[in-house]
Amino acid sequence: FAFMEETTGVRLNDVQRQAVLHTDGPLLLLASPGSGKTTTLNMKIGYLLLEKKVRADRIMAITFSKASARDMSERFDRFFSGLTNEKVHFSTIHSFAFQVVREYLRKKNQDFQLIEGQVPQDEWKKGWDGPEVPLHKKFILKKIYEDTNGTQMTDDEMDELMTYISFVKNRMASGKELDKITCTVKNAVSIYQAYERFKKNHSTQLLLDFDDMLTYCYQYLLDDAAILAKYQKKFEYLLTDESQDNSVVQHEIVKLLSQPQNNLCVVADDDQSIFMWRGSDVTKLLQFEKEYPGATVMTMSQNYRSSQEIVKASNQFIKRNQNRYPKEMFTDNSSDQPVAIKTMHHYEDQLKYVTEEIKKSGVSEEVAVLYRNNASAVPLADKLDKAGVHFYMKDIDPKFFKHWIVEDMLNFMRFSYNDRRIDILERIHMKFNAYISKRQIAYLKKMPIETSIFDTLLEIELPSYQKKAIPKAQKLFQSINQMSPDQAIRTIREKLGYDHAIKKMCEKFGFNSEHLFGIIDTLEKIAEGLETLKDFADRLKELEHLVQTSKFNKNKSNLTLTTFHSAKGLEYDKVYMIDLINGIVPSQNDMERYRNKEYGPMEEAVRLFYVGMTRARTNLELLTYHYKGSERVTESIFVTNVKKIVQPAGETPSSKKSKYAASDLSDESLVQLDDIDLGLEVIHSKFGPGVIKEYGGDQIGIQFETGGYKELLLEVCLRNGLLKKL
Ligand code: ATP
Ligand code: MG
Repeated sequence: FAFMEETTGVRLNDVQRQAVLHTDGPLLLLASPGSGKTTTLNMKIGYLLLEKKVRADRIMAITFSKASARDMSERFDRFFSGLTNEKVHFSTIHSFAFQVVREYLRKKNQDFQLIEGQVPQDEWKKGWDGPEVPLHKKFILKKIYEDTNGTQMTDDEMDELMTYISFVKNRMASGKELDKITCTVKNAVSIYQAYERFKKNHSTQLLLDFDDMLTYCYQYLLDDAAILAKYQKKFEYLLTDESQDNSVVQHEIVKLLSQPQNNLCVVADDDQSIFMWRGSDVTKLLQFEKEYPGATVMTMSQNYRSSQEIVKASNQFIKRNQNRYPKEMFTDNSSDQPVAIKTMHHYEDQLKYVTEEIKKSGVSEEVAVLYRNNASAVPLADKLDKAGVHFYMKDIDPKFFKHWIVEDMLNFMRFSYNDRRIDILERIHMKFNAYISKRQIAYLKKMPIETSIFDTLLEIELPSYQKKAIPKAQKLFQSINQMSPDQAIRTIREKLGYDHAIKKMCEKFGFNSEHLFGIIDTLEKIAEGLETLKDFADRLKELEHLVQTSKFNKNKSNLTLTTFHSAKGLEYDKVYMIDLINGIVPSQNDMERYRNKEYGPMEEAVRLFYVGMTRARTNLELLTYHYKGSERVTESIFVTNVKKIVQPAGETPSSKKSKYAASDLSDESLVQLDDIDLGLEVIHSKFGPGVIKEYGGDQIGIQFETGGYKELLLEVCLRNGLLKKL
């Protein structure tokens, strides 16, 4: 054992050592972030190989995603590459499940085909003509939806339905249980059932989607004793990391495989469960001893990763969740920088700040910029690249560059260069205010266009509003190609009415307007400082290439850009968490559901934030701002929570309380809808200081310092500005 510690350079603590030595029988290691769970798991594999002389192919280490399988395997190699040539297999549960499914169906002589979850953008746009639906999950669902509901399906409905189906399968829900799972898509249950029938009855081939792999694997293992026995025998030792994110069906597969010896080591932290929306289930872990009689459960709460400040702040922060296994995380690590909270004036200032800080520091240490949504990635990548900073982007979003909004913008610009192009006009005529109808487009297609499409149009009989609008649009288009690209985009948005058209489309088709306008804003940012429209088109190409190739920079750059989700399990010296505003962190949806007293999503958002915070070794910076575009936004309630934790004594809100009356506070501190949060300290213009204890529907419950508990009408409070933040 000592030689292992020597080569790896890690001296295990008592619990870690016990966990490593506990090789036979079920073991649950339920422990805080940075307490050495993954380290212990790796050491245990090393111990099995080197001390217990177990063959590498008898060990199955299961991870959640392909990326974490790679991370884990790299860590293992760092530890043990000098000691053993044996190759341990780090596998995702899906790739194992695929193996089982293939083997079973081959035995049965049953043909099968995997269907993709995503459709390439251009195929999706084209749709399909004939009676046969292309075999993509999205196309099939679209068809069934339209057959069932008789209406077109919106993007948001598609997203929700996909999540719902994935959730249902991962929870192995059936029969009456299905009705308990909420999905706002009309007839979701019957669409789901029709989808299942479609896949089973599709000609001679069985169709399987990504989640089917798991449910079928489970069924087949139950169904075919020989296959089950083979794998049970093959995998003498099973280990799973990040098990808080395993879904019900995943837990069940692991359980089957580990029998009869149950040499199973499960490593988890319920506070880091961030995939509930996809069907993960922590209760399975909390009932581990019931599931595996005679199991050993070990806990660890010493954090080896982070400074005093970071451990204290995150340990306190996670306590805002009600629904958790109580634990206290601590560290013996030294004190370092305080957790920094930076409130910028504008979103732009935040990007500038991060870029400059990173540039200044020269990235001699490992740095990560973490964000909630991939939408944050492109503007950041653009800014960093313009400043000459190299980075590694962990999960890339090439979809951005193929988005129809991006296409629209380029088409407007192309058309401004040549307004004889009917093929381009056909794609954008509904999106600017010249009111050109489909009929007019059809007419124009037949006409020779001599000078400009607009001139040709003006020759025909037009309604009076168009007679005015068309020359105006023509002039604007002609001026655009002389403009700098950011000016051009602003003209397209405001003067040609693109923004207005998009807003109308959102209302009509239920598109997510926040998302779409986010893309438009990003394009405008990218355009800044460029000279010609061609520069803009080139810059987009360049950025797309940059983003796509940045995944090859993994070991070349010390700077990582990634989402909170994908940062799970990893660590960096310095972490910036960006775009911390309400509506993003937590999301609009999290907040809405919270207001309706559905607390699960908000708790998950808290855990996700906690995962982000606990990635940092020595420096943690939380960044927020007041404005995005021209819109006023509010600081994330989680930032407010952390602020209270890290605020130096004497500045605590309670000491403010006695000092202030509502009239002393400026309008800046007026409570907005997004600020409302349990535990928020407020001051009411009539009743004085108090704490929000409850809210939901149209009511808000406040415990006042004097005057007791009162239930007030939320709307009245907000409309009349009765509440201010302390
Ligand atoms: P997470 O929950 O974030 O996945 P974890 O519990 O898996 O965290 P590890 O990543 O294994 O934690 O370890 C965190 C850091 O602590 C690593 O840098 C690791 O080398 C270090 N570490 C773990 N155990 C010890 C120990 N006994 N002594 C010193 N350092 C340790
Ligand atoms: Mg880990």
